[in-house]
Amino acid sequence: MKYFQRLTVRCCLPALLMAVVGTGLFAPIQARAQLQVHDVRIGVDSERTRFVVELSRSTEPKIFGLPDPYRVVIDLPEANFALPADKSEAGGGVIDRMRYGQFQPGTSRLVLDLSGPAKVARNFILPPDGDKPWRLVVDLVATDRDDFITAMRPTAAPRRPAEVPLGLGAGSDDVDVIVLDPGHGGIDPGASGVSGVLEKTMALDYAKEIKRQLEKIGKYTVILTRDRDVFLPLRERVRIARAANADLFLSLHLNANGGSKVRGFSAYTLSEQASDQEAADLAEAENKSDIIGGVDLQRYSTDVASILIDFAQSKTNEQSVAFARDNLVKEVAELSRLSPRPWRAAGFAVLKAPDVPSVLLELGYVTNPAEEELLLHRDYRRQLSSTIVRAIERYFELAREARRT
Ligand SMILES: [Zn+2]
Repeated sequence: MKYFQRLTVRCCLPALLMAVVGTGLFAPIQARAQLQVHDVRIGVDSERTRFVVELSRSTEPKIFGLPDPYRVVIDLPEANFALPADKSEAGGGVIDRMRYGQFQPGTSRLVLDLSGPAKVARNFILPPDGDKPWRLVVDLVATDRDDFITAMRPTAAPRRPAEVPLGLGAGSDDVDVIVLDPGHGGIDPGASGVSGVLEKTMALDYAKEIKRQLEKIGKYTVILTRDRDVFLPLRERVRIARAANADLFLSLHLNANGGSKVRGFSAYTLSEQASDQEAADLAEAENKSDIIGGVDLQRYSTDVASILIDFAQSKTNEQSVAFARDNLVKEVAELSRLSPRPWRAAGFAVLKAPDVPSVLLELGYVTNPAEEELLLHRDYRRQLSSTIVRAIERYFELAREARRT
């Protein structure tokens, strides 16, 4: 009897497999293979600008427009971009330039910067033909602002909130919660260094090292706004800090302004009025992250003004300044070169949590070859991180003393 059963199974397995394949039960497994983006092309004629994306398989893109500045956003499932170099610089017709990368887990994004308002006249998918792979074709035609806003409005999709551990920091005096925010990520690379290193990568490396050192002390709960190469809107970073009930929020960046000789560390706090032109320019550059990532800024426009109104006098801002000016800059001065005015203020969108002391750190200039080399060095990363950790320790010691007296 046993023999028969085994025999039956052996005999039937191939047949069974054939049946399963035949019914298409295996199809979902094939469909889950990661989407590959092989190339993009722009074609221009007198009526339209045609944007073509070469893909490894068919997909249903989400396409919408964003004004100020005018952009077309094409969302795809998470994809691997294997485009020939320099494709992002290539514009044509109504397209000035293009960016691409991961937007959120599960979503990859292409952003087309437009020279003016333009809408999608047609879009369709073409199946493989000869040596041509699957192609997404988007035809754009110039239009006016009103038509752009009506025709290209994004349909409201539920946004997946970032995961934040709940209940952290609530009512505990022993455990301080620190949120570290590696700047940029995904579709927004941030600044590029002289050796080609990207700000988003370096900022994440520093955040991980600071987290490691802080956790070793055992007194802190440390949360990263992102722990991999993924895009996060600026307000999402603020939201994470507030949801975690953070006691301190540090946004980590690398600077790229000025020529190859400019170098040094600096710390920034929030103010309505920038402390100087350079700080204003930097805030403008850092705030561009949402534009680069294709974030719909209009959905956020109401909260920003109201938050700023009495911010300058607030207790939170006093604490941010105390950390930046009295702790951080002094600690870093022991190790490293500071920029001529190491503490400044400007309207950084990522620092706008009204109830969390928030400081933006520009760790150094990746456009200065010597400083970039230093910043990339593992020993220096450890040293600079430990000076930042010492400043954090000192800040919380003083805060605890203040609470006791
Ligand atoms: Zn930055």
